[in-house]
Amino acid sequence: MRITVAIAAYNAAEYLREAIDSVLAQTFQPFEIVVVDDGSTDHTRQVCGSFGERVRYIYQENDGTAGIGARWKSIQEARGDWIALLDHDDRWLPTKLQRQIEAVEQWPDSGVIFTRYQSIDERGQPFEPSELQASGETIRFDCHDALHHLLCSNPYCPSSALVRRSALTEDGPPSETSCGDWSDWFRITRKYPMVVVDQNLTEYRVTSEQFCSNKDYLATRMRESLMSQKAYLHGRCAACKEAFRIGEAHVKQIFSVAARTYLDQYHAAVTAGDTARALPLLKQAMRAAPMEVLRPRRFAAASKNYLRAKLKGSRKIG
Ligand SMILES: [Zn+2]
Repeated sequence: MRITVAIAAYNAAEYLREAIDSVLAQTFQPFEIVVVDDGSTDHTRQVCGSFGERVRYIYQENDGTAGIGARWKSIQEARGDWIALLDHDDRWLPTKLQRQIEAVEQWPDSGVIFTRYQSIDERGQPFEPSELQASGETIRFDCHDALHHLLCSNPYCPSSALVRRSALTEDGPPSETSCGDWSDWFRITRKYPMVVVDQNLTEYRVTSEQFCSNKDYLATRMRESLMSQKAYLHGRCAACKEAFRIGEAHVKQIFSVAARTYLDQYHAAVTAGDTARALPLLKQAMRAAPMEVLRPRRFAAASKNYLRAKLKGSRKIG
C-alpha cells in the first residue's frame, strides 16, 4: 500500500519543517512526500531542500485560491494509491499513519480514514482540551451512517484524513466556494464507507489570527456545504432530519460567534472614535446573527454606542 503525503505550502516555512519532521517520525513510512509551494516568498524552498530526496518539491505561482489549487495539484502529482493530506502548519503523532493503514487492511473498501485531532497554538501547545473523550477504538460507518454523522458537524480536519486517491479525484477538482473539506467528506462518503480511528493522532494548529477572524466567512461556507446536502437526505429518514437540524444549529452557533466578534470590534471602534469603521461593523453583526445583537443588554450597549457614533459623525460633517 503506497501512501503519498500531500502538502500545500504557503509562507509557513518553520511550521512546514515541523510538519515534515512529524511525517519522517512515523512508525509507518509513506511512499513519498509531495510539497506544492503556492508561490511562497519566505524560505519554504530551502526548508524542503534540506530534507533532500525525501521531499518532492513543486513550485507554482500563487494562484489566489487560498491553497485549494495547490492542494489539488499535490493530489494530481501523487503516485500513491492513498493520500494523506497535511496542512503546512499541522503535525502528526508517530503512530498516525500506522493506525490508519491497519484500518484500511481491516476494511479495504473504505474511502477515507480519519483520526481525531487536538488543536495546538503557535508554539505547539494544546489550545483547548478536546471536547470528546477519545476511546482509541476504530469505528466504521457505512455511507448512510456517515451522512448522519457528518451532517451534525465537521469534526475532522484535512490533516487528519487518509483518503483513497480515486475517491478524491474521480469527480474532478473540489469546489472553491463551499467549505472545502466538509463538502469533500460528504462527496466521498456518498460512494465509500468511512472509518474513524478514535484517537488524537493529529495536531491542528490554530493561530490567533485564524481564531479571531473569518468566523463569518467560515460560517457562510459551512451553511453552503450543509444546504447542498439537502438533496441527498434520505426521504422519511428521521435520523437524517435530526442530524440536519443539529448541523443547522451548529452553523448558527458559528454565526453567533462571528456576530459577537463584530460587536466587540464595533465597540472598540466607537471607543476609539472611528465612526467610519464602527457602523459597517454593526451592520455586519446584524447580518451574521440579528438575535445575537438584539439580546436586551447587548442591544442597549450597541444602541448607546450607535448614538455616540452618529453624533460624532454628524458633528464631523457639520
Ligand atoms: Zn438517514
